[in-house]
Amino acid sequence: QLVLGIETSCDETGIGLVETGRGLLAHRVFSQIDMHAAYGGVVPELASRDHVRRIVPLIRETMLAAGRELSELDAIGYTTGPGLAGALLVGASVAESLALALDVPAIPIHHLEGHLLSPMLSSEPPTFPFVALLVSGGHTQLMRVGGVGDYALLGESVDDAAGEAFDKTAKLLGLPYPGGPILSKLAGQGEAGKFKLPRPMKNSGDLMFSFSGLKTAVLTATQKADFTPERIPDLAAEFQEAVVDVLCAKARAALAQTGLSQLVVAGGVGANSRLRERLRREIGKRGGKVFFPELEYCSDNGAMIAFACAMRIEAGKAAAATGGAFAVRPRWPLAEIS
Ligand code: ATP
Ligand code: MG
Ligand code: FE
Repeated sequence: QLVLGIETSCDETGIGLVETGRGLLAHRVFSQIDMHAAYGGVVPELASRDHVRRIVPLIRETMLAAGRELSELDAIGYTTGPGLAGALLVGASVAESLALALDVPAIPIHHLEGHLLSPMLSSEPPTFPFVALLVSGGHTQLMRVGGVGDYALLGESVDDAAGEAFDKTAKLLGLPYPGGPILSKLAGQGEAGKFKLPRPMKNSGDLMFSFSGLKTAVLTATQKADFTPERIPDLAAEFQEAVVDVLCAKARAALAQTGLSQLVVAGGVGANSRLRERLRREIGKRGGKVFFPELEYCSDNGAMIAFACAMRIEAGKAAAATGGAFAVRPRWPLAEIS
């Protein structure tokens, strides 16, 4: 089965080509980051228009890179939500029309399922069941993953997502967009502990998170009389340490609660090197194992959508929209997936 994956939920146009039994053949991502940087964040209307511009050439490039023809496709998976409605509609329209033209099924795929299964794209993949820590720009969730389509929510953020906290904190520190990776780079030049920030909900006794108070605490620290811009790296380091502390503690608690030993980390914040280092060490010490997606599959991409689609087909759980009717789901809790 040759499966094309299309991702357009936010500001990356991603195309991936997967063959069942062989894995990923090729993928291409076009990031709109430079375009949105001028506005300090993603402008939805510009995002949709740029997906329109990029998507067809990117599909051609991906097919060419794999040396395969569109006529060989057996299915097309596309992100149907959650995400920006207009952006999602671009991927959905292209996927559905291409599928109609080729007479193959178009399979709606949940964006977070793509993130969740992305560590399985690596050479040493985890095996079901596992605990997934999903840390992205829009979500912070712990899930018990029993198999394809079997996702039980263990806990999530009651307010900001971890990536969102990184981005908002970077913004209030005056760092350029996209803030998360830049803030974490600065953190590497500073020292945690020079500032004291809270570890929100670390000892709440459940698997819930809260990150919005942290950015307020950072703001308060910058308003103190002794604050100077030279201290930003130390503040960034303390901020990162606070987020990582909480994520590590809750991930460990989730493994203990479920009795599982494998932790899979997915989503853009999974690229954070401090998080990777601490999870590896702390989970490893307890006999567990941590799996990260390759860096290029951490943020949004089409490979993970093609892969999730292929896994659904193999599991007999791929349902195409019927009668040419399709819709996007800008809001779509993963636990509601069938
Ligand atoms: P969602 O998947 O929830 O819809 P999204 O697709 O916008 O959201 P991703 O693309 O998975 O999210 O990840 C982007 C997020 O990851 C951003 O918030 C970004 O700041 C954050 N991020 C990327 N690299 C790092 C890093 N090294 N350290 C911390 N955060 C990072
Ligand atoms: Mg993005
Ligand atoms: Fe994402």
